[in-house]
Amino acid sequence: MADYDLAIIGGGLNGVSLARDAAGRGLRVILLEQGDLGAGASSASPRLIHGDLDMLERAALLRVRGALTERDIWLRTAPHLVRPMRFAIPALSDEQPPWLLRAWLLLYDRLGCSRRLPASVTLDVTHHPTGNALKRSFGTAFEYSDCVVDDSRLVIAVAVDAAERGADIRTGARCVRADRLDIWRLAVIDRGQRRVITARTLANASGAWTASVAETVLRVPPPDLGVTNVSQIIVRRLFDSGNVYVFQNTDRRRIFVSPYERDFTLIGSVRQPFKGDPAVVTTTAADIAYLCDAASRYFRERVQPSDVIKTVSGLETVAGPASPRAAREGVVTFDASPRAAPLLTVFGGDATTSRRRAERAVSRLTQFYPMSRRWTAKAPLPGGNFAWTRLDAEVDRARARWRFLTEPNAQRLVAAYGMRLEAILGNAGSPADLGPGFGPELSGAEVRYLMKREWARFPDDVLWRRSKLGLTMPPQDREALAAFMATA
Ligand SMILES: Cc1cc2nc3c(=O)[nH]c(=O)nc-3n(C[C@H](O)[C@H](O)[C@H](O)COP(=O)(O)OP(=O)(O)OC[C@H]3O[C@@H](n4cnc5c(N)ncnc54)[C@H](O)[C@@H]3O)c2cc1C
Repeated sequence: MADYDLAIIGGGLNGVSLARDAAGRGLRVILLEQGDLGAGASSASPRLIHGDLDMLERAALLRVRGALTERDIWLRTAPHLVRPMRFAIPALSDEQPPWLLRAWLLLYDRLGCSRRLPASVTLDVTHHPTGNALKRSFGTAFEYSDCVVDDSRLVIAVAVDAAERGADIRTGARCVRADRLDIWRLAVIDRGQRRVITARTLANASGAWTASVAETVLRVPPPDLGVTNVSQIIVRRLFDSGNVYVFQNTDRRRIFVSPYERDFTLIGSVRQPFKGDPAVVTTTAADIAYLCDAASRYFRERVQPSDVIKTVSGLETVAGPASPRAAREGVVTFDASPRAAPLLTVFGGDATTSRRRAERAVSRLTQFYPMSRRWTAKAPLPGGNFAWTRLDAEVDRARARWRFLTEPNAQRLVAAYGMRLEAILGNAGSPADLGPGFGPELSGAEVRYLMKREWARFPDDVLWRRSKLGLTMPPQDREALAAFMATA
């Protein structure tokens, strides 16, 4: 008998979503991630949970409706990580006729299922806070509702749920060879040790590595796919409004400019075809200049390359030849020839539809395993068992329980851990009870929790994926954190 029913290569959003779905249906699951969870594309997305206006303009109404249904599911199941926002599209006279955009947005409102998200409106931005940061050439903007997500924490939360339902999540575990017999026999370098495990089915969810894993590890024909490098930049906060701004740049590319953490702004995206090692992804000077110029075209404050605090690049994997449908939905293939163990391949697609993609992929296995029914649409992610409309009330509750928390501290902690905050702060009555501090906000207690419950091993796991505190962490505190983690 095989050790596991399902082995998954890749700990990005697609891999952990498969692990969660399958473990919750009763399968014995192992997930192998060569580095840290979410360290690939899944921590480099523009963080949108959306129906996608581009799809609407292509008249893909069912697809937009399906994605908006998923948006609602995320709001219900991950109210700490997924945040409703007002998206503003400032209108210029040489672009799309305003009446047409207004019509699309009315349709978008109708297709959305959540009656609680405010409907779209037309704003006179010469007299509205949304217009304060914009150049004077803008007179009108269209505002509508969509959501943003903390992308890398979403990966972690899904993985925690999978583990709590029995999945074995292994980070620092690289699958180097997989032999396809009547079961799969995998060779894994697991934190330096060679290990062999067996599984009845294998899932290749290795993102931009999908083709090379197929060819060199599984030794099966690689899927036909393309890889695109998508880059974004982070600068200091450009505006006070809570809006995400959406611009159609002069070359017709869409530019999203969104609030990022408390004090920063994320500007993206620019796409370039990618060839090479997916472990080495960078943002070129030309792409940085492009994004700075685009933002400077719309905002009063000029953005220059020297203002860029960090760049964020990820590799999007899309079936070739790329189709808008595949970009949105991703690709799931299932190879179940009679004498060889089954192989699932899952790649691409956006974060919004990742839950449904995993559900459909795991459902392909029902012919092989008895398993319970689809369940993920209704089950909250860890920490997410409260209504999204009560997020501010949860922040107030945290401040009443731990009186030493400042408002911004409490907001960050509740947004990251939701109802699981108790497991970090416990009965602490002052910051001193939480152990040593690193930078303005990180405590020893939080680091210990991340190491024990969320697989953090190195400073970057804490500072860039389980939080974004790397943006404000002084170098000497980072060194102190590394020393603390080495002995914790
Ligand atoms: C820049 C960008 C923009 C996006 N925009 C949006 C958006 O606006 N809205 C939206 O909803 N979604 C968006 N997405 C898509 C969304 O982020 C993806 O659905 C998600 O990242 C899925 O990633 P993945 O799990 O397939 O791959 P990854 O996150 O790349 O994970 C693959 C993992 O496999 C691991 N791996 C590779 N080889 C091995 C091996 N041999 N052994 C063990 N592990 C291995 C890698 O280390 C990696 O962590 C965007 C993606 C990108 C990159």
